[in-house]
Amino acid sequence: MHVKDIQGSLPPVGDEGTGSSSELEKQIPRTGRPLEEGMCLSLWLQTVRNNPLLNHRTTEALPKSADVVIIGSGATGSLTALSLLQSPNPPKSVVLLEARELCSGATGRNAGHCKPDQWRGFTKYETAFGAEQALKILANEQKTWEGLVDYVRKNKVDCDLWVGKTLDVLMTDEVAEVAAKTFSDYKAAGGDVSKIEVTTDHCKAEKISRLKGAKAVYAWDASSLHPWKLVAHINKQSLDLGLNLQTWTPVTNVSGSANDWTVHTGRGDISTPVVIHATNAYAGALLPETRGAIRPCPHMCDRVLPPSTFAGSKSLKNSYAIIYPNGMYTINARPTSDGILLFGGAAPNQSKLLEYVAKDQRRRIDDSLTNFEPVTEAVRKLGTEGFDWDEPKQGSKVLYDYAWSGIIGRSADQVPFIGGVPGKQGQWMCCGHNGHGMARIFTAAPALAKLVQGATWAEVGLPDCFEVTQKRLQKHLDPGWNLSEDN
Ligand SMILES: Cc1cc2nc3c(=O)[nH]c(=O)nc-3n(C[C@H](O)[C@H](O)[C@H](O)COP(=O)(O)OP(=O)(O)OC[C@H]3O[C@@H](n4cnc5c(N)ncnc54)[C@H](O)[C@@H]3O)c2cc1C
Repeated sequence: MHVKDIQGSLPPVGDEGTGSSSELEKQIPRTGRPLEEGMCLSLWLQTVRNNPLLNHRTTEALPKSADVVIIGSGATGSLTALSLLQSPNPPKSVVLLEARELCSGATGRNAGHCKPDQWRGFTKYETAFGAEQALKILANEQKTWEGLVDYVRKNKVDCDLWVGKTLDVLMTDEVAEVAAKTFSDYKAAGGDVSKIEVTTDHCKAEKISRLKGAKAVYAWDASSLHPWKLVAHINKQSLDLGLNLQTWTPVTNVSGSANDWTVHTGRGDISTPVVIHATNAYAGALLPETRGAIRPCPHMCDRVLPPSTFAGSKSLKNSYAIIYPNGMYTINARPTSDGILLFGGAAPNQSKLLEYVAKDQRRRIDDSLTNFEPVTEAVRKLGTEGFDWDEPKQGSKVLYDYAWSGIIGRSADQVPFIGGVPGKQGQWMCCGHNGHGMARIFTAAPALAKLVQGATWAEVGLPDCFEVTQKRLQKHLDPGWNLSEDN
């Protein structure tokens, strides 16, 4: 995030880290397919190495044809498949193709945090799309979070679900003022603030947040969970309903014409009337019309073990966005499982990560980086400046344990691209979820499944600004964007 971003308005939830206006992101003008070797393992992927779904192939050979072919097995592709298969009139055959291990893209590498934006992004969304759409975007996030929690509870999904208060902590008077204005503008526009607890008394803010110098706290319900386990459960349900899942099958091209497409892979081709692109950051490799509109952007997550002074009964009980004028830290504190802290894209040094990646223009969209020192350094700084945890008199010290990288599908106008691919009848997409898919996909994927089955945009209930249109793609198209050289 840039200083100028925060002066007028706060970044929406999920836009932390770099901000949509980052010049550095634009210096990585390439797209491509996922790296096939050397990718790192996230915390989540490390904990499921013996799960047979990782490299599942339902049939030894690819089918020659299918009613629907979905590309990408993250939360979007997996939930779209399940929504189709559970619909009243399900397609006879659905094939889900994944380039690498099951759910090894952004979903398998994220911070596991589902934080619906309840107010913070209002000003930015209002500026971009008008007040009505801004209200719809924020209402949709609440609906998405509720849908995700409902699904996990109803299906008893074993995925470490935590439901509790997430805290936005404003660390200076300057950002506290911006927050107060955003909140009151949102309320005045008719936004629902009934679920948000606001604390502007400095002493109380410090006490609630446990952060030295906190000026204000905004608290509301959010969740954290093990995203891979959630997606694995979704796939298990789909496999019972007849899904054909094929991992390690990168799609190299889609050819054909309206409702008569051929999906090409190194293991053979599949003919189908319906192709669904659930490729998020990698969309531009197969859909050149999305290049520039959806930008692959590297992002880091840091795993931090808190010191003894923040463990046991003293462990953090919330997730956090800790907001300074020049950056932000987001923390998923995982209170229900192990008390480990996950820092998503520590903002001040996320730009150093981008500088590093931008230098090497030839490489593929690279999620091989681990323990990238400058990002870990930013987290260390928060330890000394914010939480009082660096020098405990007794017990263990804070341990900066491991950092991994993933690729965010940055949307050029902040919101995802959902619907029929313009000019390619029978091809559909749901991509460009920014750092925020967990609070979008549980409404977006079921909506996409309905669109594929004939529903109108108005019937599926998503904000209008999420719809992919020719005009929207054209506006952001960047002809300078190419495939990386090794694709
Ligand atoms: C480090 C990091 C931290 C994040 N933290 C959070 C967070 O805490 N909360 C939150 O809400 N969001 C977070 N996000 C963003 C979130 O993870 C994404 O928005 C979301 O997971 C997108 O899901 P998806 O299914 O659309 O995409 P993905 O999960 O990326 O799935 C796309 C899949 O398509 C596959 N694929 C791509 N191209 C091809 C091809 N040609 N052939 C076959 N398969 C292909 C990929 O391998 C991948 O598995 C984070 C992202 C990152 C990288």
